[in-house]
Amino acid sequence: MDYSKLVGLYEELEKTSARLKKIEAVANILKETKTEILPKVTLLLQGRVFPSWSEKEIGIASKMAAKIIAISTGFPEKDVSRLFRKKGDFGLVAEELTEKRKQRTLFKKHLTVDIVFENLQRLASIEGKGSQDRKFKLVSELMAAAKPKEAKYIIRTVIGDLRIGVAHGILRDAIARAFLSKEDTKAAVSAVEWAWFLMPDYGEIATIAKNKGIKGIRAVSLELGKPYHVLLAERSKGLEEAIEKFERPVFEYKYDGARVIIHKKGSEIWLFTRRLENITKQFPELVELARKHIEPDDCIVEGEIIAKNKKSGKPMPFQILSQRIKRKYNIEKMVKEIPIEVNLFDIVYLNGEVFFDKPMEFRRKILEESVKESKGKFQLAKQLRTKDIKKIKKFYQEALDASQEGLMVKNLDAKYQPGRRVGYWLKVKPVMENLDLVIIGATWGTGKRTGWFGSFMLGCRSGDDFLECGMIGTGIKEKSKEGVTFKKLTKLLKPHIENQKGNQVSIKPKIVVEVAYEEIQKSPNYGSGFALRFPRVICMRPDKGIDEVDSTKKIARLYKQQRGTRF
Ligand code: AMP
Repeated sequence: MDYSKLVGLYEELEKTSARLKKIEAVANILKETKTEILPKVTLLLQGRVFPSWSEKEIGIASKMAAKIIAISTGFPEKDVSRLFRKKGDFGLVAEELTEKRKQRTLFKKHLTVDIVFENLQRLASIEGKGSQDRKFKLVSELMAAAKPKEAKYIIRTVIGDLRIGVAHGILRDAIARAFLSKEDTKAAVSAVEWAWFLMPDYGEIATIAKNKGIKGIRAVSLELGKPYHVLLAERSKGLEEAIEKFERPVFEYKYDGARVIIHKKGSEIWLFTRRLENITKQFPELVELARKHIEPDDCIVEGEIIAKNKKSGKPMPFQILSQRIKRKYNIEKMVKEIPIEVNLFDIVYLNGEVFFDKPMEFRRKILEESVKESKGKFQLAKQLRTKDIKKIKKFYQEALDASQEGLMVKNLDAKYQPGRRVGYWLKVKPVMENLDLVIIGATWGTGKRTGWFGSFMLGCRSGDDFLECGMIGTGIKEKSKEGVTFKKLTKLLKPHIENQKGNQVSIKPKIVVEVAYEEIQKSPNYGSGFALRFPRVICMRPDKGIDEVDSTKKIARLYKQQRGTRF
């Protein structure tokens, strides 16, 4: 297939916002695609060349885009950057400059999906000294052979910002429409979705649907070494609600760490996050623990990794653990610096048998039988089975005092539903009080937010000064009937701009907003020393002056209150 054909589809998708039209367009191209390249086309449609769970990645940061476009088109890098500031999209920049290309190469190569895909995949295997330059060269060559519109999408794919990337729901519906059109639509869509929860790779799913129909899709199951979408929890109003909801509840610590899904096949171990990332390399000590302490040959267990202080052994906040998740080199040093503990809470697969339909109580029992605990390293999550609210409240307080987030409440009679936030698990966490903060900076937006600010720096009061305490972009809307818009905020803030550096501006503290958030973390990156986690704008507070903005002291107090003392 010619790459230009795919590009034609990208253009069509970019122009239409009608969901049904998008599904139809994608379904049509899938139908026309030869089976051999179906996986490539479905990946490229999502703006990727590796499935999300692969350890491999292209490895080119978006800040390198200007350089690549400069090399491929012959324009100076500063011209490329200038054009980017105007357009806010490297795709459009590449398109325009390829059109005007100085080194008028003839479009010698005829780009096919295979050529583009394979070259982009090849980027991941370029390693070692001078690898960045070799990567630039490879992409530039590809771009130099491309027509302007092709260059637009190649650069977007390389920097991981395709923009019209076909979302999960559209691909699901398009696959059902393309290959399972004889079936009832609803049944076909839900079969494809179920398959995707268990095998999150639309390339493979499309191929199975094409070759084996709905029977093949329904037979998709878990595979060791490939991640699946996990069961998610719902927020609960409180412990009382949780007790009322379940006839037989079980309470567990809600640990403040990261979900880990451990696959074991003989002595082979894989570790995945709930976002399907492969983190096996980052946690060699966990691989060892799993090998040693999980008894069955083949199984999949789930738990929460938490970081611990290397001296005191006390639990550390999630952000410390996240340093280990992100780390790609010097792993052995990190193993010593940030020790971990794993608390296991579920098992979904054992020696060929999948436990999705088995109740929680059964799964916990099998988990207990399958794991030889090593206290403080590899153990089962703390549990309490009772309906006595006094005991439950005590357990909740214990969890908070142990620096954990709160409690998970699970229905002992409920099965495991992959990929869904169904009410089988409820989470109970302390509610954080909203803060009134002032906007002290902003970043110019890109893409459809070009010309407006896209994110905002929040400040809290410290004497007469205002110190950074978090970046916010959530809660602000595109359309005015939905609430505070980017446009409105930009208009309000523009007269107060003090300084501009690149795409960042500093702003005189004037505009006060009410902000909700999940949690307060310590942060060396912000002046206040704190960062709000998942902040979102609730409303503007024109009734509040900047003297009423909440102080760093208040944030420090809330930080301490949110759990027991941590260290
Ligand atoms: P949330 O991230 O707030 O939606 O809460 C769900 C997450 O809590 C899960 O994905 C796990 O990472 C985490 N978690 C911590 N402790 C437990 C537990 N005992 N059972 C299940 N999930 C837990």
